[in-house]
Amino acid sequence: MTYDDQNIFARILRNELPAIKVYEDDQVLAFMDIMPQAEGHTLVIPKSPAVTLLDLDPSAAAYTIQIVQKVAKAMEKALDLKGIVLMQLSGTAAGQTVPHVHFHLIPSSVHELGKHAIKMGDHVKIQELADKIKAAL
Ligand code: AMP
Repeated sequence: MTYDDQNIFARILRNELPAIKVYEDDQVLAFMDIMPQAEGHTLVIPKSPAVTLLDLDPSAAAYTIQIVQKVAKAMEKALDLKGIVLMQLSGTAAGQTVPHVHFHLIPSSVHELGKHAIKMGDHVKIQELADKIKAAL
């Protein structure tokens, strides 16, 4: 699939757009979802330019999952969670809205999740949650 380097997450990776970041290294970035489906909703993205999981280089996918696990553990500790939904949408038909592969970590239950990317979250509250997760990393 053709990668659009003007997509929102590509622009966040180039620091052209702001994001509340909780983790970054040379291959992966984790940041807070701006329209959270639950308090603490965090996104983990590889820096490799891939639209969906199916396009992502397998070694980048393997490394990204390691960071997904690391961030999930920090969320569990910082936010005292009992469960986290890991969601990954590949393709617009699946509901993907941003064409750069990403993993959602959502402190919620599959039974409670509804439509996503609809309602803006409270920036101050999101920043507070990010600070807690960062402190646990
Ligand atoms: P998906 O529908 O799986 O592509 O998910 C995209 C996610 O990105 C949604 O949960 C949006 O709320 C989130 N999102 C969109 N724009 C931004 C942004 N500028 N910063 C953080 N999260 C964003």
